[in-house]
Amino acid sequence: MKNKVRFFRSVNFKIALTFILILLISIEIIGAYFIRGLERSTIENFKTSMDAQAETLAGTLGNHLGQQDDTNNSQQNNEIQRVLDNSDSPDVLEMKVVDERNNIRATTSVSERYMVGQKNDDPYIDDFSTKSLVAIDEGTSDRVQINVQPIQSTGDTVVGALYIKSNLEQQYRSINDIALIFITASVIAVFISMIVAVLVARSITQPIGEMREQALRIAKGDYSRKVQVKGNDELGELALTFNQLGERIEETQEAMESERNRLNSVLSHMTDGVVATDRRGKVIIINEMALSLLNVEREHAVGQSILELFDIEENYTLRKLLENPDEILLERSSADKNLENVLLRVDFSMIRRESGFISGLVAVLHDVTEQEKTEQERREFVSNVSHELRTPLTSTRSYIEALSEGAWKDEEIAPKFLNVTLNETDRMIRMINDLLNLSRMDSGNYQLQLEYINFKELVNFVLDRFDMMVDEHEKQYQIQREFTKRDLWVEVDTDRMIQVVDNLMNNAVKYSPDGGIITVRLMETHNNILLSITDQGLGIPPNDLNKIFDRFYRVDKARARKQGGTGLGLAISKEVLKAHGGNIWVESREHVGSTFFVSLPYEPYEEDWWE
Ligand code: ADP
Repeated sequence: MKNKVRFFRSVNFKIALTFILILLISIEIIGAYFIRGLERSTIENFKTSMDAQAETLAGTLGNHLGQQDDTNNSQQNNEIQRVLDNSDSPDVLEMKVVDERNNIRATTSVSERYMVGQKNDDPYIDDFSTKSLVAIDEGTSDRVQINVQPIQSTGDTVVGALYIKSNLEQQYRSINDIALIFITASVIAVFISMIVAVLVARSITQPIGEMREQALRIAKGDYSRKVQVKGNDELGELALTFNQLGERIEETQEAMESERNRLNSVLSHMTDGVVATDRRGKVIIINEMALSLLNVEREHAVGQSILELFDIEENYTLRKLLENPDEILLERSSADKNLENVLLRVDFSMIRRESGFISGLVAVLHDVTEQEKTEQERREFVSNVSHELRTPLTSTRSYIEALSEGAWKDEEIAPKFLNVTLNETDRMIRMINDLLNLSRMDSGNYQLQLEYINFKELVNFVLDRFDMMVDEHEKQYQIQREFTKRDLWVEVDTDRMIQVVDNLMNNAVKYSPDGGIITVRLMETHNNILLSITDQGLGIPPNDLNKIFDRFYRVDKARARKQGGTGLGLAISKEVLKAHGGNIWVESREHVGSTFFVSLPYEPYEEDWWE
């Protein structure tokens, strides 16, 4: 991440280089034009001045050379020499005068003095015409200006020629000097501009570098620092915008964080389990509820395939879940080993992006153990009711059939058969009444007809009936009463409560041996009435103790049915006591006997008041 930009690739270097290149190119172009112009004008000027000098001098010389006189030749020569010497200048290398016969008459070159009076061999003075040209000096190989100017006498006849060789090299040298100054100045300018370029480039790149650092810090989640805003140019504005961007990112980050926290808290407080996967079906989110429902550890679940997590890889593929995300039922062993397995309903749904691309799967888990149990109970109940009604109906039908086939004529059998059908019909009516009672209590629209009564009297009333009935029964029994002395005033639904005691007494008689003693105790605690009915019957196996209060549950079905029971008595008793805020339970030892307990809430102060 923190790879430093190499110098030669840096903006710093690029800006400086561009700067210097532009400067160099412009200096180069300006320099070329300037020096070329300077050279041209210098040489041109020099040439013009030499031309002018040659013309003037030739005019002066015309006066002297024009007087053709051989005798005065040497004197004339001296005069010409004097004129030449007078107009000598440092730029002039040599001046010489040639007459019309091509004889050298005077020269300023000391080394050429001996040539005076001799024939001229200079090729430039061949035709006495005006010449102005640049040539290379043979002796020194310097650049020289050659001027040839015809000398005219007063009668406009050409009497000779003036030859001037002047030094151009000096001119070039001074041009070179100027060029050197120019180059030196350029080098200094380049050097200074290099420094300026680096400084300017740095002033640009430094804030950029700072912004880069800041961007890296933001990427790491550190929003504490800000980029320094220097000046209000574009870079300053950029830095300002950058800081604003940082703030926005921080705000967005915070918003996302709080959103995520909210989502997390929603997920963790949900009563349903939630599992979310990525597009390959690997678990990425799982809430507490799902962990506890599935009885797995978070470390184990996250990253695992959802098929493995639900243990459904044999029957389902991820594709199948994605294509047809229905609900499925899972059975898992409960976290508490003593409890039954839990039943989970899992609803699947896909997570789709806006583009339609499937990016994962969400599974919502509901614990439907209770629901399924209720459903199961309902099914069992319906099947029980049908079964319970079918038995007496079939038997009634077979007796009626026998009667209709002729048994009605038999005076001995007919009344017996009719009696049986009557009994069976009675039992069915009882059962249906019991069922109606139960269903009324279940639906909740059942109102207790509460009355304020002495519970002792209520129990005595039922027991007195049983005492009276003892002779009618084929089985003998004896009832013992062990009651508290106090009256027990409570508010109860008398009919229902009589039904409960009656039912318990009935069972006690039913399941007691011949001549058994049934002990009925009535006592009070500080806030409860406790009624117990103990028999000496065959007792109830420990496994069945909890179940006998269930509807239609009977320990020994065949026997119980023979006794005329419906299997609903205890279930109704339980509901009645529940409605009174009381309780019913049983203690039993097989082959010794059973004790049924009934408790009712009771407030004894009422009695004190009566006293
Ligand atoms: P039933 O009409 O069959 O008696 P109950 O609901 O009154 O139906 O009783 C349910 C079952 O509980 C009975 O079938 C019987 O197996 C058992 N039971 C009830 N009372 C006693 C008891 N006093 N002694 C032994 N078993 C009993």
